Amino acid sequence: EAKRSLNFIEQIIEEDLKSEYKNEDLKFRFPPEPNGYLHIGHASSICLNFGLGEKYNAPVNLRFDDTNPIKEEQEYVDAIKRDVEWLGFKWAKECYASDYFQQLYDWAVKLIKNGYAYVDSQASEAIADQKGTPTEPGKESPYRKRSVEENLELFEQMKNGETAEGAHVLRAKIDMTSPNMLMRDPVMYRILHKSHHRTKDSWKIYPMYDWAHGESDFIEQVSHSFCTLEFLPHRELYNWFLDKVSKPGEFLPKQREFARRNLSHTVVSKRKLLQLVEKGIVNSWDDPRMPTISGLRRRGYTPDSIRNFAESIGVGKRENIIDVAHLEFCAREDLNKTAPRVMAVLDPVKLVITNYEEGKEEWLEAENNPEDESAGTRKLPFSRELYIEQEDFKESANRKFFRLTLGKEVRLKNAYIIKGEEVVKDDDGNIIEIHCTYDPKSKSGSGTPESLRKVKGTLHWVSVKHAIEAEVRLYDRLFSEEAPDANKEKDFVDLINPESLTVIKGYLEPSLQEAQVQDKFQFQRIGYFCVDKDSTKENLVFNRTVTLRDSWAK
Ligand code: ATP
Ligand code: MG
Ligand code: MG
Repeated sequence: EAKRSLNFIEQIIEEDLKSEYKNEDLKFRFPPEPNGYLHIGHASSICLNFGLGEKYNAPVNLRFDDTNPIKEEQEYVDAIKRDVEWLGFKWAKECYASDYFQQLYDWAVKLIKNGYAYVDSQASEAIADQKGTPTEPGKESPYRKRSVEENLELFEQMKNGETAEGAHVLRAKIDMTSPNMLMRDPVMYRILHKSHHRTKDSWKIYPMYDWAHGESDFIEQVSHSFCTLEFLPHRELYNWFLDKVSKPGEFLPKQREFARRNLSHTVVSKRKLLQLVEKGIVNSWDDPRMPTISGLRRRGYTPDSIRNFAESIGVGKRENIIDVAHLEFCAREDLNKTAPRVMAVLDPVKLVITNYEEGKEEWLEAENNPEDESAGTRKLPFSRELYIEQEDFKESANRKFFRLTLGKEVRLKNAYIIKGEEVVKDDDGNIIEIHCTYDPKSKSGSGTPESLRKVKGTLHWVSVKHAIEAEVRLYDRLFSEEAPDANKEKDFVDLINPESLTVIKGYLEPSLQEAQVQDKFQFQRIGYFCVDKDSTKENLVFNRTVTLRDSWAK
């Protein structure tokens, strides 16, 4: 592993280890809310937390922050577990904030008894109105002075479902004049007569994020609770609650913040991604155009490519947008090492070798991966009629065109040197066949002087008779704009790139008939492709993961 300097999160931990912390105190968590599928931004947080776990040999919990029954579902829990595992990480414990509902309730009762919480019976608008502004103090609720007895009684009624939704909330009694708006008597509980995906109908009140998160960290004895920057002002409240529930001398978690990572030409927010799914703009959460981990997996990304991406962008203190080209670079870099090379023609024109015997076929030897000798070789069928790419031929071209033209030679990869002779056109002047001759002594790898002569270009090809047809899905950026959700005039859903998906028919070498879902290949000179889960023996489907070169680079 390449040496790099400590990032600021690691520096925090190193400082702590020098003072009051011991290595065995270290414990981290990754705390997703199961209200959608994980995206590439979460990958950064996963790699940060689990990466620290690996570095310090410390446990990392997978904690579901499932405090909002309206948006959360078992499907999302399952998807999140699948994605974290696929990235190659192992959690110490699978935890749920909902497992702590009773403890949180008991602590809330303790806060009421100690005069730190009260039931407010105002409508939410009134509560919002009294909050004040950052420069003006708020007003105290008329219910702030309720007696402990009355608060306990009402809170129990709320819990038992005896009060309507919205009738009351439980608020922390802190300071309505605090310069930190979050300290102005924040809501701890609201009434929701909704079934929860785990606790079902046992609870009629649900804790708010601020009340549940730090307490969950405390229960699990997490040492460092890393969250994104927008939670910085919440830190004061995080500590206030911990102070109220803990006993002197107990080990308390500390919240620290890092910058959210955004990716260009997409949106990274579960809420927005859900809209794309619900509106049918994409087909599913794992649509290969989605920046979700499941979408990237289906598209052909490897766990290493995503981990390398997260590691290379590192952790930051300022929010920024990472160019999606960098993610694509990481995919290429990894797939180049591992993906077998194959031949596929996606935009065919027929090439006839006029001096090659009709009906004859040869099986030529081809290397599977020049980057990996152990990948071995395979056999490729060659015959008189081949497909090559239309763009690999021009009737006449300037000297910079190193592909096939009339009167010039090129090599057919793993096969022979050919020379363009003439073209056959239809009535409209479109080329329907290219005729060429081959040099029978120029076979690749044969060692003959003819095979060793230099020609400028090498083309990929498939034998017409042996080629198998496949559906090939070509993906482009989901949004043409760099930051679709920052557009002031238009809603991001109206900014979809109409060319984000193109479906074409491709002609592949026959070895691909046996390819299995998720198998990854380099279609030589084109890009990296992966078998889609829609693929069947009768209808093979390939996704283009990424082109060989960045077609957007100027
Ligand atoms: P979303 O808006 O997509 O729902 P979230 O922050 O609400 O994001 P959570 O499920 O709460 O999603 O996130 C779990 C963890 O992942 C949190 O610690 C959160 O800070 C972190 N995280 C979420 N999005 C990003 C991102 N874009 N970059 C880095 N970390 C992120
Ligand atoms: Mg969240
Ligand atoms: Mg969220």
